[in-house]
Amino acid sequence: MSEGEAGLAAIFRRLIANTGPISLMHYMGESNARYYNGRDPLGDEGDFITAPEISQMFGELIGLWLADLWIRAGRAEPVHYVELGPGRGTLAVDAMRTARRYGLEPRVHFVESSTALKEVQLRALPGAFWHDSLTSVPQDGPVLIVGNEFLDALPVRQLVMTAQGWRERMIGLDGDRLVPVAGQQPMDAAVPEARREAAPGTIIETCPGAAAIVYEAAGRLVAQGGAALLIDYGHEAIRDGSTLQAVRAHSRVDPFAAPGEADLTAHVDFATLASIAQSRGAKWLGTVPQGQWLRSLGIETRAQSLAAYAPQHADAIRSATERLIGEGQMGLLFKVMGLASPDWPDGVGF
Ligand code: SAH
Repeated sequence: MSEGEAGLAAIFRRLIANTGPISLMHYMGESNARYYNGRDPLGDEGDFITAPEISQMFGELIGLWLADLWIRAGRAEPVHYVELGPGRGTLAVDAMRTARRYGLEPRVHFVESSTALKEVQLRALPGAFWHDSLTSVPQDGPVLIVGNEFLDALPVRQLVMTAQGWRERMIGLDGDRLVPVAGQQPMDAAVPEARREAAPGTIIETCPGAAAIVYEAAGRLVAQGGAALLIDYGHEAIRDGSTLQAVRAHSRVDPFAAPGEADLTAHVDFATLASIAQSRGAKWLGTVPQGQWLRSLGIETRAQSLAAYAPQHADAIRSATERLIGEGQMGLLFKVMGLASPDWPDGVGF
């Protein structure tokens, strides 16, 4: 057991013993803040691997998509590339290298909370600007916003139907173990009327942080121009159930066993986020499976030309492509949601 694990689990136990159960949202927020702040979790040696770390093609095609749209929108300057939770900065490096070939050289802004990852990002893109939230991103030109596996890390709130009605899902103690329990406070008023009747045990999950960020991003698109690509695993229709999961060393683990030592994520509810963006006046370009989106941007052609250039890597390139677009891999579960300013053209692939 590492110090961090003992540390956060012990803090939660003490807090719960003294003041009662804490909300799942509080639990997930604190756990992920601790988790990301202290480490670089990406790659084979870490806990999980993401699309930009699988292949340079992922970031390149995003750079191409952004450049195409920016050119057709009239090449406005200044223009800002804003990445949410950029990890190692790999996506930004690949996207900016490609965009530059088409004359798009935006200022680079990173919204990042992790001290450890900021250091890695600084080495990858020394000229970038760092922000705690979108609020401090400049307002003087269009914004090209990208987030890959960012929204899924934001804390979710869960409501559970009990014999006494709807309650918030909390984390309590069973001896020394952290376990989910139903809260005391009636929460029926927080459930939309159409979903209020439900069988005991039904769970409704929402992500207020994701809603807030999409609300703000959409407002920026409307006010400043620009477009956004949000890529994550998730669903296109609203549905019930908990999607909370924890991953450590590339395996699923119990989300309540070692807070701060495993990556906690939940599926992104793209349907709700699209309607929030539209309610602010932004244009929803669509939400499509990652495989389909990458294919329409020409990933297979790009893979062939990379393999022709470096035949010794042809097998690796083929298997990376399959990982990104294969239906049993990331191609179907991961979705790409596109948003744009109402004055901007539609993007490729939606
Ligand atoms: N986009 C990268 C990394 C994904 S991991 C990739 O695809 O490889 C999630 C990223 O979001 C990390 O950089 C993490 O530090 C960051 N992050 C998580 N919660 C955050 C928060 N509340 N505010 C800002 N960044 C956050």
